Amino acid sequence: MIDCGYGAARGIVNAGVRLPDLRYIFITHHHSDHNLDYGKIVNAAWAAGLNDPIRSFGPRGLKAMTDAYWELNKFDAETRIADEGKPDPRKLHIASDIEEGVILGMPGVRVSAIRVPHPPVTDNFAFKFETRVGTIVFSGDTAYCRKLAAFARGCDILVHEALFEPGIDRMAARVPFAATLKQHLLDSHTGTEDVGRLAQIAQPKLLVLSHLVPGDDPTITDEMWLQGVRAHDAGKAIVAKDQMAIELPHA
Ligand SMILES: [Zn+2]
Ligand SMILES: [Zn+2]
Repeated sequence: MIDCGYGAARGIVNAGVRLPDLRYIFITHHHSDHNLDYGKIVNAAWAAGLNDPIRSFGPRGLKAMTDAYWELNKFDAETRIADEGKPDPRKLHIASDIEEGVILGMPGVRVSAIRVPHPPVTDNFAFKFETRVGTIVFSGDTAYCRKLAAFARGCDILVHEALFEPGIDRMAARVPFAATLKQHLLDSHTGTEDVGRLAQIAQPKLLVLSHLVPGDDPTITDEMWLQGVRAHDAGKAIVAKDQMAIELPHA
């Protein structure tokens, strides 16, 4: 699982994944839209019968967050261990703080991370999953980043965030801190035209626009999201939807 924003636990259950089957969680950065369900998802897996460890990987602070989560839920955990005979969830949740480089290697799968710019967050990562059935790169949240284009070069699927600039004023107008919000969004995310420039260099077999900013404006159609991309790159590109499943080319 990559990132655990609000509703993520429910989301993967709806996608047909048994929570106790979850083995690995990767967190790109510590903004709440990426980690709000982080502890909860392991707790829900434990409630549903987790017996094998879940390993999690993320920026500095993930281990501390994991310890704090289980401290917060100590009463429930210890009651159920004593009363119901459940395994200790703290021993089944193994967190690692990561740096750039290969963060997980096993037969057939290699996961690597690079830092990408998302000011003011500096411990912020993109991930690459190299597997026997294909290579998938997740941009996480990032401003336009040439290093990411090289990291993703030739991958099968690039899941990249996208910002639609004409939609930002409408989005910002809904909050009292509009000016600072708009500046944050422009500085820390990638406009659709820049996603196209990046795809032109990276040449993924499929580009998936995800983490759409704004993500809740129905007047912005898929065509509008893709227009800026297509101005710079002719490769295959789609706009992600909740619960979308994508076949890997060699699967
Ligand atoms: Zn973020
Ligand atoms: Zn985000």
